Amino acid sequence: MTVRTGCADTPLLRERGQREVFCGLTSIIWLHRKMQDAFFLVVGSRTCAHLLQSAAGVMIFAEPRFGTAILEETDLAGLADAQDELDREVAKLLSRRTDIRQLFLVGSCPSEVIKLDLEKAAERLSRQFAPRVRVINFSGSGIETTFTQGEDACLAAIVPTLPETDRRQLLLAGALPDVVQDQMLALLDGLGIGPVTVLPAARADDPVSVGPNTVFALVQPFLGDTLAALERRGARHLPALFPFGEEGTTEWLRAIAEEFGVSEERFERVTEVPRARARKAVAQAAATLRDKSVFFFPDSQLEIPLARFLTRECGMDALEVGAPYVHRRIVGPDMAMMAPGPVFSEGQDVDLQLDRARAARPDLTVCGLGLANPLEAEGLTTKWAIELVFTPVHFYEQAGDLAGLFSRPLRRRAALKVGETA
Ligand code: SF4
Repeated sequence: MTVRTGCADTPLLRERGQREVFCGLTSIIWLHRKMQDAFFLVVGSRTCAHLLQSAAGVMIFAEPRFGTAILEETDLAGLADAQDELDREVAKLLSRRTDIRQLFLVGSCPSEVIKLDLEKAAERLSRQFAPRVRVINFSGSGIETTFTQGEDACLAAIVPTLPETDRRQLLLAGALPDVVQDQMLALLDGLGIGPVTVLPAARADDPVSVGPNTVFALVQPFLGDTLAALERRGARHLPALFPFGEEGTTEWLRAIAEEFGVSEERFERVTEVPRARARKAVAQAAATLRDKSVFFFPDSQLEIPLARFLTRECGMDALEVGAPYVHRRIVGPDMAMMAPGPVFSEGQDVDLQLDRARAARPDLTVCGLGLANPLEAEGLTTKWAIELVFTPVHFYEQAGDLAGLFSRPLRRRAALKVGETA
């Protein structure tokens, strides 16, 4: 019998230099869509307001569910009592918007610099506006964070507020687009697994609870703090591959199915058809990707599961897989499935990493927006990492689209070359 360890024990190249990533406020853009009676109040500067406004510009057509309480220069200089001002802003907001049931006070670099205690503010405001509104705080600050950590901080802050339960249940943590979440729940229902709850819930009143008989699976690999918070409530984590691609989805489902005693026969029956569909869809895009090399700069924290998908299902060769943080407890199963070879780097020293990418000249470089244009100008083909977070990419029905996100830039570059020589 052979034990497959792949890259499970590969040492990490740890870098702690300058980083090029968006801050955690960015995650509000997808979180506010998931939580329909929530409001995200960023306690920050005009820079924070601009980031949200430009990143989420589409929201101007809808009643917004996020805003910024601007810290003025007097606040930053410690001349005003920012807590009093915050209370006034929140009272104004909640009297105008009676639809808000959960209010998130979101910390930022400026609120952290002046040491504004948002935890205290959330407790005080929760008492004042209970039971209509629950006030929770978390940090989206850009100091030492990356943008997907905003979701992790938000969900980790919700966990202690969840009611206790003793029932045996499956909890799924991580925000997914509604259509993808429905597919996931339909698959689990087909396997006869239940009851199932999802964090974050769409509404404050949705019955999400947690306790010692709860087992949970993550659908996003960037939820390290949420995992720890759920474990503190007695829940048990089910380690698994992440549900990217046919193999990832099947193994994610299998880990849950084994926990709930689903028969192999039922598992095959429920997964057979969507698996075949996913394999076929991936194969089409994989024709462009096969034998091409890929280099990941650290950005979304999806890098390791995506590298596993690209190497195992699309035939790519991973040169370096950079991730802002590597939680082996979370991405260990994905690393274990990968053939030895790639460098796994954690954190960033952007100049050193750019040198490595230039020397390696990968066929495809997955990186943040700030690095993509300069690298394209140097003749490298790039994929914006942030798109992978905003596009539905999980589970069987999205497997072909996920492969397509990586093959498109290569096809575009090839078409441009043909154009140049024509
Ligand atoms: S939280 Fe920090 S990094 Fe993010 S927009 Fe505000 S000032 Fe910039």
